[in-house]
Amino acid sequence: VPFDDRDGWIWLDGQFVAWREAKVHVLTHGLHYASSVFEGERMYGGEIYKLTEHTQRLFQSAEILDFEIPFTVAEIDQACKDTCAKNGLTDAYVRPIAWRGSEMIGVSAQQTKIHVAIAVWDWPSYFKPEERAKGIRMCWAKYKRPSPESEPVHAKASGLYMICTISKHAAEKAGYTDAMMLDYRGYVAESTGSNVFFVKDGVLHTPTPDCFLNGITRQSVIALARSKGVEIVERHIKPEELSTFSECFVVGTAAEVTPVAEIGEYSFTPGKLSLELMEDYSRLVRRELVPA
Ligand code: PMP
Repeated sequence: VPFDDRDGWIWLDGQFVAWREAKVHVLTHGLHYASSVFEGERMYGGEIYKLTEHTQRLFQSAEILDFEIPFTVAEIDQACKDTCAKNGLTDAYVRPIAWRGSEMIGVSAQQTKIHVAIAVWDWPSYFKPEERAKGIRMCWAKYKRPSPESEPVHAKASGLYMICTISKHAAEKAGYTDAMMLDYRGYVAESTGSNVFFVKDGVLHTPTPDCFLNGITRQSVIALARSKGVEIVERHIKPEELSTFSECFVVGTAAEVTPVAEIGEYSFTPGKLSLELMEDYSRLVRRELVPA
C-alpha cells in the first residue's frame, strides 16, 4: 500500500486530519530548501521509549535550523501519544516532523509558517528478521559525513539525509542491506540511519559522535553495557582497524540493535555480546528490564 494511501489519522498543526488528506503545497520551503527536521520514535506496549528526549531533540534540531516550533515540548509529547491512540496502535513507529511552509520561496524564508505533523505506523522491524538473525551485509558508502564546519551535523535535519538515501540505494542495488559511512576525516562514522559498535576482546568500541547524531539508542546501549560491567571505548576508528574486531552491530530507534555480518572487505560473527545487548535492549524498551 502506498504510504499516502492509508486509513488512519495524522496530527497536523494541532488537529487530526484523515491520513490521505494530510498534504502540503508544492511550494513548501521544506521541500525546496530542506528547512525540515524530524524524529523517529517507537512505542512499545503503549509507551513511547524516551519520548521527551526525542521531542527535545526535535526542538533543538529546529533551533539549529533557525526556526521555532509553535508548540511546547509537553504538547508535542502529548500529541505523539494521542496520535498512537487515535490510530489504535500500542506498538508503533512515531514520526514527528517540523518544516517551513509555503508563504515565501527563496533562500530567505523568515516569514514562513512553521508546521508540525505526527504520523504513526506499524513498523515491526527495520531490517528483515532473517537478515537480522545472520547479521546484515553492508558496503562502504561513497559519501562521507560532513564536518561540523560544513553542516549542522547534530540536527536531525532532512537535508543531512540526502547522502544517506543515495548511499542506501547504491548499497541495495549492489545487493547489500545498508552502507557504512566514513566521516570527512576518513574515520568510521555511522550507517545511513543508525550508529555502530564493534567488539574486541569483550570491550565495546564506538566512534566518537563529533560529526553525526549521538543517537538516543546509542546512549541507551552504552548505559546498558556499562551496567553489565562491559568497558566502552569512544574513539576515532580507522576503517582498516575493522579487521581486528570480532563482532559488530548497529543501533537506532528503527534498527534497534542489529548484528552486522559484513562491512565491505571485513566480516564479523554475531556473538555473545551483540546478542545479549540485542536482548537487553528489547527488554529495556518494553520495561521488562529496569535501567541501572
Ligand atoms: N544516525 C542516523 C543517521 C540516524 O538516522 C539515526 C536514527 N535517528 C541514528 C543515528 C540513531 O539515532 P536514535 O538512536 O536516536 O534513533
